Order: sequence, then C-alpha cells, then structure tokens
Amino acid sequence: MSELRLNRATKEWIIVATERAKRPHQFQTKIEKKKLAPYDPACPFCPGNEKETPPEVYAVREKDSLADQPGWRVRVVTNKFPALDPKKKLTKITGDFFRTASGVGKHEVIIEVPQHDRSLATMSAKQVEQVCSVYLRRYQELEKYKKFKLILIFRNHGLAAGTSLRHPHSQLIALPLVPASIRHLLEEAMRYYDDHGSCVFCDMIKEELSAKRRVIFQNKSFIAFHPFASRTPFETWIVPKKHHACFGNISSDEAKSLSVVLRHVLRQMHAKLNDPNYNLIIRTAPIKDAEEDYYHWYVQILPRLTTPAGFELGSGVYINTVLPEETAKFIKE
Ligand SMILES: [Zn+2]
Ligand SMILES: [Zn+2]
Repeated sequence: MSELRLNRATKEWIIVATERAKRPHQFQTKIEKKKLAPYDPACPFCPGNEKETPPEVYAVREKDSLADQPGWRVRVVTNKFPALDPKKKLTKITGDFFRTASGVGKHEVIIEVPQHDRSLATMSAKQVEQVCSVYLRRYQELEKYKKFKLILIFRNHGLAAGTSLRHPHSQLIALPLVPASIRHLLEEAMRYYDDHGSCVFCDMIKEELSAKRRVIFQNKSFIAFHPFASRTPFETWIVPKKHHACFGNISSDEAKSLSVVLRHVLRQMHAKLNDPNYNLIIRTAPIKDAEEDYYHWYVQILPRLTTPAGFELGSGVYINTVLPEETAKFIKE
C-alpha cells in the first residue's frame, strides 16, 4: 500500500510507495571509488596553485603566511566563472513581457581544506568547525550589501550531485532577488503562523522529539532527523533548536555546535551508504526577513540515490521507496 505524506513546513506532498519498497541497505553506493591522493598538482584548489584561482577574498591562515600563497586552512575565492557579477549595478527590470534585470550578485567558492582527498565526513572536527565558521563569516559580510536579497550556501558532493572538481569545496551565491520557490516557502510558513500562532519548524522539532523514530542525532543546539515526508531516501534536516529565521543570526558557539552535528551526520552517511553523492543546502530567510517569527533556517541534505524523472518534474511530488522511520533506524545502528 502506498501513502501520501505532507511536509507541514514546505507544503510538499510525497508518495511513499511501499509496494516498491527497498530495504535501507540497498541504497549503498556500489561503485568502487578511486582513492584520491592528498595532493593533486593539476588541481586549481590544491596548495601551491593559488594563482590558478581569482585572488582570495578571505582566508583562515597560518601565522605569517601571505595571501594567495600556501599556508591557508580555509580559502575563499570568487568563482572563476561566476554566475553573477558583484560589480554590476542593479538596474531596473526592463520590457513589458520579456523581462530582464542586470546579473548582479556574488559567486564565491569556499575551499574547505588544503588536503585534496578529504570531505566533510573525513575531515577532523576542527576542520569542519572552521568551515562552518567561514560560512557564517562570509554570510555576515555579504548581508551588509543592500543589493543582495538572498544568500545561498550549498555544497555538491560527487558527480551525480553536479560537481566536477574533487577538491572539497562549498559555494556561496548572493542573489539580487528572492526566487519564487523561497517566497512560496515563506508564505506557507507565514500561513501556518497565522493559523497556529507558532513557527512550523519549532513545532516540527517538538513533534519529532516526541515521536523519536526519525531523530538520528542531537546536541544542545541542533536536532537532525529524516523528515516525516522525506523527498528522497535518507533526506536529512539539521534544524537549530533556538528559533532563528536567518543563518547569519547565529552565534559563533552555535556555528561550532552545528559543525559537530553536520560532521556526525555526514560520517554516518559515509559509513552506512559508502560515501554517497549528495547536495547540502543552507535554507535561510531572505536578508530582509532575518528577524521574522514565522520562518526558521535549517540545513537540508539530499543524497542523490534516486533520479527525479518525468513524474517528479511534472508534479513536484516525489516518490520515495523507503520509510524515513526505517532509514533513521538503519543509519543509527
Ligand atoms: Zn586539490
Ligand atoms: Zn522556529
């Protein structure tokens, strides 16, 4: 029997098709991965090749080391082929029907560690902590610019997740507009707040903690769970227990706490699913909505274990072939 499930926060329906059911272990990546070396002379992100990238905009460095030279621990550069350009002026939308606007924005690459062969799952605790602290620093720096409306931090891990460069890195894009999908998310959260007088994400945390079955890890500040209406097998949300609409409003202690949960969750996934491809997205409110009571930022991790096809693209409804209660149990074992 199949079941439709509603994600109360996103208002997305998903189908859990249990007659096609797979056991959680059947999602393990089968491909034997080529072992990488800790240094690749041809990689533009490896130490010694700093000239291969645009100049760094920020770096965590060893004492006395110079910009655009080795000696960095985390290095942030502008994307060599940026999707958007920070130097452009935000010009008005033109045309009545075929609208355009200037491609203003910022596209940065966060090179997470000097070692070519690491990932967030195999870095030290200190290294993941530094990555999360750089996420926060860059966010707080860019939110000061009036021309940016939304800052998206994301990470593509593996070919199926859309990355071509193996060196561990994340990306940041500051957009001059709020996309329709984000507006929809905010409107649904606002509607829930109007009806219930509470934040839908704060309520979700309470419900998941009392149901227990989908929670995979938590600490003082964050909870990680496989959502009741997971889009894909092993979809994972990491949600701050304290209400913040905006990622940029957390403290450095909270960023450290996030790094502990993030590392734990990705290590579990790496061990249990044999290093799957995934997309990681920090879903935060637009800059102007940073203080709102109705929205709540979170980290979404979507493993690329299935491929969305015509039905998903046509309906926006995802078919999941395994229950999140089962994947949560499997990943914790
Ligand atoms: Zn490299
Ligand atoms: Zn909340």
